[in-house]
Amino acid sequence: MSAAAAPLLRVEGLTKHFHTTKNLFGKPTHTVRAVEGVSFEIGHSETLGLVGESGSGKSTTGRLILRLEEPTAGQVFFEGQDISRLRPHALAPIRRRLQVVFQDPFSSLNPRLRIGESVGEPLRTHGLISSAGERREKVAALFRQVGLDPRFMDRFPHQFSGGQRQRIGIARAIALGPKLIVADEPITALDVSIQAQIVNLFLDLQEEMGMAYLFIAHDLGMVRHLCHRVAVMLRGRIVEMGSTEQVFANPRHPYTRALISAAPIPDPEREAARRRIPYDLVPPPPGAVLQEVEPGHWALSAA
Ligand code: ADP
Ligand code: MG
Repeated sequence: MSAAAAPLLRVEGLTKHFHTTKNLFGKPTHTVRAVEGVSFEIGHSETLGLVGESGSGKSTTGRLILRLEEPTAGQVFFEGQDISRLRPHALAPIRRRLQVVFQDPFSSLNPRLRIGESVGEPLRTHGLISSAGERREKVAALFRQVGLDPRFMDRFPHQFSGGQRQRIGIARAIALGPKLIVADEPITALDVSIQAQIVNLFLDLQEEMGMAYLFIAHDLGMVRHLCHRVAVMLRGRIVEMGSTEQVFANPRHPYTRALISAAPIPDPEREAARRRIPYDLVPPPPGAVLQEVEPGHWALSAA
């Protein structure tokens, strides 16, 4: 397949097992199957929501795509190229087009560096600026793009609110003009009113710049407004995947139904009538496979 015809991202049978609690002789005694045979695609300018309970393997999936974690098995194709086993020096040019936004951008910012320098750092390491003046100019433009006053450039990280820090994290992620951003619970830690603003910023930037997102979330509320497609993860496996309309209108897997029932509805009358559907977080049976229940909509079979 040529790179142009390929989806922007394709993961195939992605698997990550962690071996923990080594005994005295270094023998692993416990295996965590964090990600188990996960496959999906993301198209150019598309947003895929990856949702599921805490511990279901969402972050590990994101980290495998970003190559912050080595896969136990499976592949990651980015722009048609298998990047799952590339060495660090071969990964460097790909990092420009594949970026990340974390839940807490504060932890990845140097507390002693003025914020303008932190945001400008990726530009410098990739040789895209030649002077301090040029850096200030480019960083000011990035600040405006994410809705921050460029005068804040000389402040330090602790002087910003949670929402502003997330805007800073996004400014860093878009600095190099990426094709895909893995956003790992970027709004989870924010107040509800701020969450909507950040979701709108993601939407606006996608319209302006055309990048794709893997948007990781543990609840379905904002996912509905932001994502074109949704994949539901349970115990390391995808149990359902389809367009956002398909999954919300016609959820097939009982775990998806439980997740949807747990999300608050903005309409007060319907919210008052909402009943939570309980679900036991039992792992899917090993023999279960994803079956297409309608075009583009997949759900895990019972066995
Ligand atoms: P999520 O992001 O959906 O909350 P994670 O991908 O963080 O889930 O974790 C999936 C599982 O893998 C959890 O059981 C977690 O404890 C385990 N896990 C994640 N990272 C490690 C690690 N470095 N070592 C051992 N276990 C890990
Ligand atoms: Mg996580």
